[in-house]
Amino acid sequence: MKRKIVIVGGVAGGATAAARLRRLSENYEIIMFEKDEYIAFANCGLPYYIGEEITERSNLLVQTVDAMSLRYNLDIRNNSLVESINTNDKTVSVRNLKTNEVYNESYDKLLLSPGASPIKPNFEGLKTASNVYTLRNIPDTDKIKAIVDTNDVKTAVVIGGGFIGVEMAENLALRGIDVTLIDQSKHILRPFDVELASILELELKNNNIKLILDAGVADVTQDYVILEDGTKVSTDLTIMAIGVVPNSELTKNTDIKINSRGAIIVDEKLQTSVLDVYAVGDVIELTNGIDGEKASIPLAGPANRQARLVADIIHGIDVNYTGSIGASVLKVIDLTAASVGYTSEYLTFKNIDHESVIVHRASHATYYPDSSMITLKLVFDKITGKIYGAQAVGKKGVEKRIDVISTAIQAGLNVFDLPDLELTYAPPFNSAKDPVNILGYTAVNLIEGMTKMYKFDFVDTVINDDKKLLIDIRSNKEYENSHIKSAISFNVDLIRDQFENKYPDKNQEIYLYCQVGLRGYVAEKILNDLGYMNVYNLSGGKLTYETYKNNLNK
Ligand code: FAD
Repeated sequence: MKRKIVIVGGVAGGATAAARLRRLSENYEIIMFEKDEYIAFANCGLPYYIGEEITERSNLLVQTVDAMSLRYNLDIRNNSLVESINTNDKTVSVRNLKTNEVYNESYDKLLLSPGASPIKPNFEGLKTASNVYTLRNIPDTDKIKAIVDTNDVKTAVVIGGGFIGVEMAENLALRGIDVTLIDQSKHILRPFDVELASILELELKNNNIKLILDAGVADVTQDYVILEDGTKVSTDLTIMAIGVVPNSELTKNTDIKINSRGAIIVDEKLQTSVLDVYAVGDVIELTNGIDGEKASIPLAGPANRQARLVADIIHGIDVNYTGSIGASVLKVIDLTAASVGYTSEYLTFKNIDHESVIVHRASHATYYPDSSMITLKLVFDKITGKIYGAQAVGKKGVEKRIDVISTAIQAGLNVFDLPDLELTYAPPFNSAKDPVNILGYTAVNLIEGMTKMYKFDFVDTVINDDKKLLIDIRSNKEYENSHIKSAISFNVDLIRDQFENKYPDKNQEIYLYCQVGLRGYVAEKILNDLGYMNVYNLSGGKLTYETYKNNLNK
C-alpha cells in the first residue's frame, strides 16, 4: 500500500517538500492542503508587483494547482483549511472553504508548513479604518494594488522598518505616493547596526521617503496614524509590517509542543514532539547556527532548505537540519544591503563580548569603469576569531561578499581564515584583494594588536576631551574641504619627519582618522615606530562617522 503523506500549506515549504517527495518516489500518496486559492506563489515578489517593477501578475504564480498536480502527481486541495489535527487517530480535519463541508483525512506522515501571519496590534481604530493593510499573500497584494491603481492615494504610512516595510515604502514611493515609514526602533532594519542602517536611511530620505524613528504607534484611523506622543501623520493608505507570528493554532489540543512565541518546536529531523508529525518554514522554532540559541528566522531560503531536508527525512535518508544563520539581502532604492549572523547591537544587548571592524572597499578595481564603494562590517570574537556576523551595503557586489562570509561561517572558518580565501579577480569584477580578504586582514590586525581602533560613536568623546588629540592625516586639500570638528591637520606623509618636533610627549593619546581607515592605519604604524603607543585609528574613517551624523541631522 502507498504511504500517505499529508501536507498543510502549499507555498514555500509545503510545495517544495511535495515536489521533492515525488522526485524521491512515485510510491507516495501526497495530499497538499492550502487554505487560499493560490499555491506556490512568489511571496517575495509581492511588493515589486505593487510597485510595478514586476508588471505581470501571472509571473507571481510560479505554479498552478493544475500544472503542479499533473507534473508531480499530487492531490492538491486549495481553498481547504486544515482546522485541527488528531494525532491519536492520525487524521486532520479539513474545511472546504468553497462548500463549507468538513471532513477527516488520514495520514501516515503529516508535514506542517502553514507559515506565519502579519502581526495585527490591538488598535481601536482598526475596527473602523478601511484603508489599513498587511501584506502576506496574493489577495492582500490585489487589494493594496487596486487601491494604489485608483490614483487616489496621495500619502501612505508604512508601520515597521523591517524588510517588508522598507520594500513596501520603496514600492509605494515608486508609484508616486508620498510615503512615511515609522519604526519604534532607533534605526530601521535590525539585521544591520546603526552605522550601516544610516546609509540605508539616507538613501530612503534622499528619495523623498520620510522616516519617523524611535516612535511607537498608538492607533490608526482612516486619515491618520497616531503616534504615542500624540503626533498625527496623515495617510490615505496604511501598511502594517511589524513582524509575523507563527500560524500554529492548528496544534491546539494536540501534544505538538510550541514555544512561548507560538513557534512549533522541532528536532534536528524536523520532527515535532509527536511521532510522524513534521514542521518546516516560518512556523518553526529553529536553532541559530551562530551560537545554538533558539530563534525564529522567517526567510524563504531556510524554509526551502528545510522542506527539501524533511522530504529526505520522511523518505528515510539520514540527514539533519542544523539551523539557520539568517543570511539575507534587500534592495533599498539603488543600494543593496546584505547581512548574516548577529549584529554588534544584538551582541551588546546579550552582553556577549565582541569586536568589529568596518572597511570601505571598491566593488572592483577603481581604474576600470563603474566601480562603486561597498561598506562592510565584520563582527567577531576578539580572542578566538569566531565570526559572529557581517553586514554590507553598496551598489554592486554586496551580496556576493556576504554570501562568501556566510559560507565561511557555515564551514566553521574564523577571521584568521578570511585573508586566505582565494576569490576570483579580474578588474571588471574585483580587486586582487577581495573586500572579504581585507575584512580578514583588518580583523586579524586588531586581534593581534597590530592596530588599536576607535569607533564612530567615540568620536564625539574625543572631540570633547582636551587630553585627546584628534588628527586628520589626509591631505591639506581634503582637510580644507571638510574635517571633523576640532581635528588638527597632519598629513600622513609628513608624520615620519615632523611629528616628534610638534608633539614630543610619547604618552599622548592620539586619535587618527582618514577618509576610510587605511591611511590612518599607515600613520598609526609610523607613530608606533616613533615610540607613540597610545595611538588609535578610526574604524571606517570619517566616512562612517559623517554618514551617521548626516543621517541624524537630515
Ligand atoms: P508560506 O510560504 O507563507 O506558506 C504557508 C501557506 O500555508 C500559506 O499559503 C497559508 O495560506 C497556508 N496555510 C496556513 N494555515 C493553513 C491551514 N490551517 N490549512 C491550510 N493551509 C494553511 N524571504 C526571503 O528570504 N527573502 C525575501 O525577499 C522575502 N520577501 C518576502 C516578501 C513578502 C511580502 C513576504 C510576505 C515574505 C517574504 N519573505 C522573504 C519570507 C518568505 O516568503 C517566507 O519565509 C516563506 O514563504 C515561508 O514559507 P512557509 O512555507 O513557512 O510559509
